[in-house]
Amino acid sequence: MEEMPRRIDPATDRTAAAHLLGCLPDEVGYCPRCHGLTHRYGRRARPICPACRAARAGPADSSPGASGRSS
Ligand SMILES: [Zn+2]
Repeated sequence: MEEMPRRIDPATDRTAAAHLLGCLPDEVGYCPRCHGLTHRYGRRARPICPACRAARAGPADSSPGASGRSS
């Protein structure tokens, strides 16, 4: 099973967030979408946090307009 990345609350300690994100504390910043913490700065920065990226990749089965409705 694939784990959904979780949003990192902005109240989280930067050092702890950096550890979760695999970056340096100095590179931690706010996600523009959810305002959680993400690897915002630096060479391999990911301005959009893992949780938002995962959400954008497409929820597998939660779209209400999906085809396949049987009547
Ligand atoms: Zn986000």
